[in-house]
Amino acid sequence: MKNIAVIGAGTMGNGIAHTFAQFGYNVQLIDISQASLDKGMATITKNLDRMVVKERISSKDKDNTLANITTYTSVKEGVQYASLVVEAATENVDLKLKIFKELDEVCPEDTILATNTSSISITQIAAVTNRPKQVIGMHFMNPVPIMKLVEIIRGYNTSDEVTNFIMDLSKKVGKSPVEVNDYPGFVANRILMPMLNESIETLYNGVAGVAEIDTVMKLGMAHPMGPLQLADFIGLDVCLSILNVMYDGFKNPKYAPCPLLVNMVSAGKLGVKSGEGFYDYSESRRAEKVAKQFS
Ligand code: NAD
Repeated sequence: MKNIAVIGAGTMGNGIAHTFAQFGYNVQLIDISQASLDKGMATITKNLDRMVVKERISSKDKDNTLANITTYTSVKEGVQYASLVVEAATENVDLKLKIFKELDEVCPEDTILATNTSSISITQIAAVTNRPKQVIGMHFMNPVPIMKLVEIIRGYNTSDEVTNFIMDLSKKVGKSPVEVNDYPGFVANRILMPMLNESIETLYNGVAGVAEIDTVMKLGMAHPMGPLQLADFIGLDVCLSILNVMYDGFKNPKYAPCPLLVNMVSAGKLGVKSGEGFYDYSESRRAEKVAKQFS
């Protein structure tokens, strides 16, 4: 396996591309938006620079990693030589079904099709292709170059051969894969999202403020990051989509997204990626913080 195509250059896609490229694979990074590709490459460069400063990689490693990535706005062109495609486009069922239908038509017959979906059924995605044995979930964690876990999700028809192959590949790029079955939210988000949703509900009910809720969970439960900060980091739109998939999938009100989360997403407050969520990530706020450090 030499060529790995990654669909989507957003938060996750650029991290996945970075990781495979760092381990010597040729990566074709594909997005419908040139602006997203440019932003994704800028993020990869910034993250590699940080790794060089921390002496985790050399400058030559950085250059080699960047040289291993080519960007495309056409899926057909980007996937033509791919042995594996990892889809990391927006968390939306209809979009993913459309992408997988196209991938099945344009990819070589033996290409494995993986999805980084956080919650959508692998079996449902596989069913729109003519290769359900070769469709699998490869759920990386954010930030991908740092986080060790990859949830490997077997769809109803995923073959042992493909599962073992993807488990081995994950280890080859320094990850610790865990095999799970295909139910809404899988394991990671089935446990994480109700906690994030409850922290938003706690804020919505006026029990405590943003900083107070995060401090309780950081200092009281030894979480490295508070739940509201984590929700901002994941993307509030992503959190909402995952909760909706679990709510629809289990028909259980315990997964119903908090109205405050719904409102914030409708208002375009998506967290870090939009510059504002529960916290302010705007340029002016960042500049203010830097100025404070030097005052
Ligand atoms: P994002 O919004 O940051 O990026 C999505 C990217 O997909 C955008 O750049 C968009 O232009 C692109 N895109 C949309 N339609 C496309 C198409 N038809 N073809 C190619 N590109 C297309 O989203 P994200 O947070 O990176 O999430 C991507 C996937 O990863 C989702 O399925 C999400 O559930 C999953 N995921 C997210 C996280 C997280 O912490 N954000 C963690 C694990 C998994």
